[in-house]
Amino acid sequence: MNLKDKRVFVTGGARGIGRGIVTLLAKEGARVAFTYTSNPAPSEELLKELPGDGHLCVKMDVRDGASIQEGFAKAMETLGGLDGLVNNAGITKDQLALRMSAEEFKDVVDTNLLGTFLCTKAVLKSMMKQRSGSIVNLSSVVAQMGNPGQCNYVASKAGIEGMTRSMALEMASRKIRINAVAPGFIATDMTEKLSDDQKAKISERIPLGELGSPEDIAHAVAFLLSDQSTYITGQVLQVNGGLYL
Ligand code: NAP
Repeated sequence: MNLKDKRVFVTGGARGIGRGIVTLLAKEGARVAFTYTSNPAPSEELLKELPGDGHLCVKMDVRDGASIQEGFAKAMETLGGLDGLVNNAGITKDQLALRMSAEEFKDVVDTNLLGTFLCTKAVLKSMMKQRSGSIVNLSSVVAQMGNPGQCNYVASKAGIEGMTRSMALEMASRKIRINAVAPGFIATDMTEKLSDDQKAKISERIPLGELGSPEDIAHAVAFLLSDQSTYITGQVLQVNGGLYL
């Protein structure tokens, strides 16, 4: 995938799937800005490891408008504009609906869905001016499947898929493409919370027989950011080992 000279912003890039995305994009020639919430050390370490020049990390909380403005302003200043945005930052706060507090519901929706909306708004004007851009939102296989104990997370991801289609329609005439990637179960901190027994049961249900890796997701994201996908918009690309067929 050739991403040479593409300037891409990735939210939550220091670990997990985000880290896989940042690393692959840099390998493919992109200049990448990525975010951390509070501890800069892992991001600064990652910056040193990335191939190529001109990458940066910025502190950002995707729930906070002022923090978003500041983070994107820094990235725009360093990169001189943006060709891509990956809305990767996300959290889970699992609980059965009966026991879930309004706060647990709201925290997850604010980070995953509102955060994706706010970060997208932050780049749209400059992408409209340049009449090009590709935005990739991270959904999840559970947006379609549903998942007991995750009604907040599933609502946020189903919301992201609907928002992706609506914004794709709004932005198509400006040549800005907006797609989503829906991972299945991927080995990261997010799934590390599952017990070995739960992981074994999940692997049994995956036709390809194992959890995916951050790199599996990164390749799909890189494709949607690249010029090989210029006729694709408003789609949700499933990357789940055949989990939900
Ligand atoms: P992860 O390892 O838990 O990492 C989450 C990332 O989100 C971290 O980089 C974190 O930043 C960032 N983040 C959390 N809250 C934030 C906030 N308020 N503002 C800015 N950044 C914030 O998760 P992951 O497994 O890599 O998941 C990445 C994305 O893929 C998420 O959207 C997730 O829903 C989706 N996904 C994951 C799986 C899976 O199986 N792992 C499956 C389907 C979908 P810090 O490092 O600073 O905390």
